[in-house]
Amino acid sequence: MFPGSRSPDSPTFPHVSAFLRDSGLGGVADSLATRVANSGFVRWLKAFNDVDANPELTRERLKQARWDRYFLTVAQAVSTASKDPSTKVGAVIVRPDKTMASFGYNGFPRGIADTDERLNNREVKYDLVVHGEINAILTAREPLHGYTLYTWPFITCKRCSLHVIQAGIKRVVAPELPEHLKDRWAASVRDAGQLYDEAGVSWALIDTTEVE
Ligand SMILES: [Zn+2]
Repeated sequence: MFPGSRSPDSPTFPHVSAFLRDSGLGGVADSLATRVANSGFVRWLKAFNDVDANPELTRERLKQARWDRYFLTVAQAVSTASKDPSTKVGAVIVRPDKTMASFGYNGFPRGIADTDERLNNREVKYDLVVHGEINAILTAREPLHGYTLYTWPFITCKRCSLHVIQAGIKRVVAPELPEHLKDRWAASVRDAGQLYDEAGVSWALIDTTEVE
């Protein structure tokens, strides 16, 4: 976890300072680093809590963080297509070269009518709905080994994590579980994280308050 703010004379993150210096920002690097350290940008980066003092590595992580933010924004856009009146989920599957292989949102299978009766009855809806992540996996036209899955507005549920693991996806990125969804989903997403750890799938939760 990133530490909290420190005195302005002592940059909180030497690697950020080094990164700025390497970018030609010279003497202002340290004070800039302190300002960055105290900004929301770093809260957003906290998923990358093992960033070390290696500037090369730091540059790679920052690049990855920008891509992560970009694809989460895409997943957010995809989620808007869902007809679910309560939770609209978007999922995007990305190849290692940062091109998109597939996307999906939560909804009934093709040919199953989206009637208000079904959508507004939670029990009936849960029985019929295909989760966004599964739709993304099923829609893909290629094997997904080594790919990254982005989901919005939170990480896969426990059931979906099993399919994600089995599809060979190696990394999962999502926003932290929003407060209002914790009652319903906290246990399931906690289990999903444990399953990913056990299966060797890396996952990161990103504070998206700076994204929205
Ligand atoms: Zn699910």
